[in-house]
Amino acid sequence: MADRAPQPVERQLPTEESRDLLALVRDMIQREIAPKAADEEEAGRFPREVFALLSESGLLGLPYDSEHGGGDQPYEVYLQVLEELAAARLTVGLGVSVHSLACHGLAGYGTKEQKAAHLPAMLGGGLLGAYCLSEPASGSDAASLRTKAVRDGDDWVITGTKAWITHGGVADFYTVLARTGVEGPRGITAFLVPGDAPGLSAAAPEKKMGMKGSPTAQLHFDGVRVPDSRRIGDEGQGFAIALSALDSGRLGIAACAIGVAQAALAEALSYATGREQFGRPIADFQGLRFMLADMATQIEAGRALYLAAARLRDAGRPFSREAAMAKLFCTDTAMKVATDAVQVLGGYGYTVDFPVERYMREAKVLQIVEGTNQIQRMVIARHLAGPESR
Ligand SMILES: Cc1cc2nc3c(=O)[nH]c(=O)nc-3n(C[C@H](O)[C@H](O)[C@H](O)COP(=O)(O)OP(=O)(O)OC[C@H]3O[C@@H](n4cnc5c(N)ncnc54)[C@H](O)[C@@H]3O)c2cc1C
Repeated sequence: MADRAPQPVERQLPTEESRDLLALVRDMIQREIAPKAADEEEAGRFPREVFALLSESGLLGLPYDSEHGGGDQPYEVYLQVLEELAAARLTVGLGVSVHSLACHGLAGYGTKEQKAAHLPAMLGGGLLGAYCLSEPASGSDAASLRTKAVRDGDDWVITGTKAWITHGGVADFYTVLARTGVEGPRGITAFLVPGDAPGLSAAAPEKKMGMKGSPTAQLHFDGVRVPDSRRIGDEGQGFAIALSALDSGRLGIAACAIGVAQAALAEALSYATGREQFGRPIADFQGLRFMLADMATQIEAGRALYLAAARLRDAGRPFSREAAMAKLFCTDTAMKVATDAVQVLGGYGYTVDFPVERYMREAKVLQIVEGTNQIQRMVIARHLAGPESR
């Protein structure tokens, strides 16, 4: 079987520090992540120790302020790290992206006291986070969520069910969006809930098509009590916080998608140059050469798109439209490239002896999470043509 490790990508990084960081990440991938990825995905094993190592190495807080234990890295650098992690194992790349999403609310909207109390442990103290927006009856229409938080003295009491939660049952903290007021987006508030809060329990993880090592579970809140000091932002500000987190999170998904696509291309290239038919390597045939050329071109275009959006964010400019475009294009690219990689390997591509079938299954989920690609098109169209008339 061909080497699972993707070919190193030639990257343009802005500083010496970021180049050293990438070298550290590549070394960690070779030693700790890539060798076990295929077997652990097949076995459905969550690599908790890898997240502990990432936290210890400062890789769980890269885009956040160093004042609270973050890495002070621009998004342009953070996303390229994510891309490399996802190329080795999507469970890890997407897991880091989700953790970052879970930290976004507190880092962006928390008080000075809240940040001092919680962020250092979240960004580099070994804790792992999860982000709880979706529910069994509200996915794309997230503003219709029903989980309730009711004020009781200095506390809030949370009751309801969250669905599809990445790291559900294994996370140390949950950023939870719950209804505290009127129906619709203005009645939602964000809370930081500890993983061991009494009344909080996780269902058995979903049995998924791919990313089997990443636990995705329903979470039940049965009168979970949190003090008001764990409310993030103002009452009613939760949906705005959730959307702001998703703008950044979508860039993370875009980078992960390009990682999966890059890994699929590397495998297809390695196979095509070694496999012979009609007395020649199959990489000699124009039918495959053009396919490989298209795969590489789509990957470069996707990477350029997510990096352009990241640079807007790094410059403090609006990037919501560009993040939706990057998520849409990069995840559709991952699906196309991974499917084509299976084709390049022929019958072998359809077996578990080669990783391209895993990449194809992994690419699919990226078109669904953090707003399906239909929802990304709605977001982009709203930026172009304004809100729908009804
Ligand atoms: C592996 C995995 C991990 C996840 N992790 C998390 C997590 O950590 N936290 C979290 O909160 N959520 C998470 N999710 C949930 C994910 O964000 C939702 O699945 C997604 O938002 C879609 O919601 P839904 O599944 O309810 O589909 P629905 O909203 O029911 O959509 C079904 C179909 O209808 C389409 N559709 C819906 N509305 C429209 C419309 N107006 N126009 C056109 N088409 C439309 C959708 O695009 C989709 O094709 C995860 C999901 C998966 C599969």
